[in-house]
Amino acid sequence: MTKAQKVLVVGGGVGGLAIAIGLHQQGIDVEVVERDKDWKVYHVGINVQANFVRALNVLGIGDKAVKAGYAYRGARFVDMDGNVLQELPGDTAVDALPSDLGLTRPALHKVLTEKTLELGIPVRLGVTFESFTDRGEAVDVTFTDGSVGTYDLVIGADGNYSAVRNVLWPEAKPEYTDQGVWRYNVPRPKDLEWSDIYVGKPKGKVGYCPLTEEDMYIFAVFEEPGNPRFPKETLADEMRKRLEGYGGLMAEAARHVTDPDLVVYRPLEACIMPAP
Ligand SMILES: Cc1cc2nc3c(=O)[nH]c(=O)nc-3n(C[C@H](O)[C@H](O)[C@H](O)COP(=O)(O)OP(=O)(O)OC[C@H]3O[C@@H](n4cnc5c(N)ncnc54)[C@H](O)[C@@H]3O)c2cc1C
Repeated sequence: MTKAQKVLVVGGGVGGLAIAIGLHQQGIDVEVVERDKDWKVYHVGINVQANFVRALNVLGIGDKAVKAGYAYRGARFVDMDGNVLQELPGDTAVDALPSDLGLTRPALHKVLTEKTLELGIPVRLGVTFESFTDRGEAVDVTFTDGSVGTYDLVIGADGNYSAVRNVLWPEAKPEYTDQGVWRYNVPRPKDLEWSDIYVGKPKGKVGYCPLTEEDMYIFAVFEEPGNPRFPKETLADEMRKRLEGYGGLMAEAARHVTDPDLVVYRPLEACIMPAP
């Protein structure tokens, strides 16, 4: 196989932008199409560990990402009253980078999009592929804006519900895992330097993670039998219901979950690929 010189990345999220930046840095001609014309991500947090932070560093955006987020000390398991059972401190000595970093998703997106644009990587927004034909030595692509292109390689970085994957492996579909995730941003207590995970309630796991000096986010994973769809206006009440019985800092944090528009609820769906 000859080295790919011209690459199309479908999807301008975390994966697509990271690979586009990396390929560009290897001298490869890369372009991105992103379906969302506003190129937006939702507001809650993402926490990432040493492997992710070091990968960003290789792409030249490690420091920026660290500044955009909150480097915390590691994870703690706590009981239902918030008493610490076990600390899992991160190692902050590796490459002088933190091993535990919380960021809002828009903050991470900004770091990645700014680097992509600064490098001059072409990104077409509100555009995706209409169809593609793999001729072996090249892939011919027709886009939804009517344009066409030929690439040595097409990379599907279009998320869990990938349209690229659907063309290549139509039988591989994400399946509901019987769990859903609830998330909400709340104020960070000034002395909170850890991400706490509460253990003790069956069928549920909740915690929080610092995102900035001011904010942290609550994540709550629960069994949600039957994949329920919740009316938008009930989301804050439903989330608070699931946080009942938790003490410690979670009890106070849960009181801030009041605006249904700011609750992000996602059914957890996983796609198991067929064996190659
Ligand atoms: C509830 C939940 C919590 C999570 N928390 C964490 C966490 O704390 N830490 C962590 O490391 N990971 C976390 N993850 C996982 C993380 O969010 C994903 O691994 C990551 O978003 C995958 O990035 P991606 O670029 O592959 O896909 P996505 O982030 O889904 O991005 C896909 C991009 O492709 C675009 N797109 C979609 N379809 C098309 C198309 N047909 N054509 C063109 N563009 C298209 C989308 O608009 C989007 O911009 C979490 C996931 C979930 C569901």
